Amino acid sequence: MPRCPKINNAQPVSKEELGRATWTFLHTLGAQFPDKPTRQQKKDVKELMAILSRIYPCKECADNFKDVLRANPVEAGSQAEFSQWLCRTHNVVNRRKPRKVGVSL
Ligand SMILES: Cc1cc2nc3c(=O)[nH]c(=O)nc-3n(C[C@H](O)[C@H](O)[C@H](O)COP(=O)(O)OP(=O)(O)OC[C@H]3O[C@@H](n4cnc5c(N)ncnc54)[C@H](O)[C@@H]3O)c2cc1C
Repeated sequence: MPRCPKINNAQPVSKEELGRATWTFLHTLGAQFPDKPTRQQKKDVKELMAILSRIYPCKECADNFKDVLRANPVEAGSQAEFSQWLCRTHNVVNRRKPRKVGVSL
């Protein structure tokens, strides 16, 4: 029987941890996506991205992702197309991250 952790005791997840876990999920989805997706499968991944941009549990990231999706609409005509779109989109998201300020000693 699966055991579920008590949500009240769950540690908060950092933006970086959440991002890494989400990208792992998304790139795995891309790698498993069919070469010849059905209309429903294409619709599902487009909806998933739109839903992520609304409910992603980092509000600032969700808002940024809405802009990214507007400028880079989901391409899911095949496995190659979707996984390449994910790769490009991951780069776009990360380019928009605030730069770490260097410390001069
Ligand atoms: C939808 C979404 C929106 C986000 N929005 C923001 C935001 O607005 N601001 C913010 O600060 N952070 C945001 N993040 C988090 C951010 O993208 C990173 O996940 C986080 O900063 C951790 O970065 P990282 O360098 O450890 O590796 P990540 O970028 O999380 O990458 C994890 C691993 O994926 C691999 N990888 C890296 N790039 C690619 C690529 N292009 N294609 C395939 N694999 C790759 C590498 O092995 C890497 O170690 C968002 C994440 C998601 C999923």
